[in-house]
Amino acid sequence: MTDHSTSYFIQSRPVPGQPWAQHGVRWSWQSKPKALEKLAARREMKPGWEHRLMERITTVVERPATEDATPEETAEACGKCQRPFNPDDPRWDGSARYASTPYCRGCIDRCHDSTDAFHVCVICR
Ligand SMILES: [Zn+2]
Ligand SMILES: [Zn+2]
Repeated sequence: MTDHSTSYFIQSRPVPGQPWAQHGVRWSWQSKPKALEKLAARREMKPGWEHRLMERITTVVERPATEDATPEETAEACGKCQRPFNPDDPRWDGSARYASTPYCRGCIDRCHDSTDAFHVCVICR
């Protein structure tokens, strides 16, 4: 059985020609009206910027699983969130190891993208 789930998020850029990016907290919404509401709020907050609504379609696949137990990987885990690295995670903010750092991409991404002026974590300390 294959299922699709759609969520919406907002990308912004300060000037035309700059790469689009998600700024601040990486919210996404299942409901389009809600996302449009947030888009309008974002446009009010930063009127000089360009903002656009993005749609993320996630494919969910359900299938019978095998019952042979593979031993728990004692793979190395992220030094921040303690989640084991998953090198097969293709997401740029997923749980794959970030380059040669002891942290996962998700944590690095959250650290680099933090808009909290007082943000300090093991990564940037
Ligand atoms: Zn992590
Ligand atoms: Zn940090």
